[in-house]
Amino acid sequence: MKRGLYVGRFQPFHNGHMQVIESIVKTREVNELIIGIGSADTSHDLRHPFTAGERVLMITRSLNGLAIPFYVIPLEDVRRNALWVAHVKSMVPPFDIVYSSNPLVIQLFKEAGIPVHSSPLYLRESLAGTVVRKKMLEGDTWKESVPPEVESVIAEVHGIERMRQIAKSD
Ligand code: NAD
Repeated sequence: MKRGLYVGRFQPFHNGHMQVIESIVKTREVNELIIGIGSADTSHDLRHPFTAGERVLMITRSLNGLAIPFYVIPLEDVRRNALWVAHVKSMVPPFDIVYSSNPLVIQLFKEAGIPVHSSPLYLRESLAGTVVRKKMLEGDTWKESVPPEVESVIAEVHGIERMRQIAKSD
């Protein structure tokens, strides 16, 4: 039994994240996957518009029917990077491999002696959280960048209206 951990902020969960998960499943490297939602304690700002709970919904609904069991676990940030891996380990089931292309995440897990695999980046110019959030805010077409389940969670929580409200100046 091997378990993998894929960590991200998922603000929002988009098709690039989905492709990474599908490619992890295809490799058959792991029998189970943990999806760690980073910065779980941050929401309602333009870089982190969605709460941890909203991101749990986006991911759980999008992965319905995934070929392997998965766990979606929110992870609050900690002020000291040197302690973060221990914090993550205390919050999630035991894991053997980490999946990430984030340089800091890679460095911290490698220093802790945990193997890290990096998937290729899919359409990074368009499938990046920053790009998707900018399109949402500006009324550009963003729906094709996310799974349909994410689009419906964003509609359910009035996510676009939230982003436009918090982008205003007083
Ligand atoms: P993200 O949502 O931007 O990306 C998640 C993963 O998906 C990354 O590995 C990224 O490279 C990959 N990805 C994104 N777009 C892709 C695409 N188009 N194709 C393929 N892969 C793609 O999240 P992130 O910034 O990597 O999240 C890291 C989290 O870990 C953050 O929440 C951060 O705060 C947390 N963290 C916390 C600490 C601490 O608390 N001290 C330390 C390190 C990291």
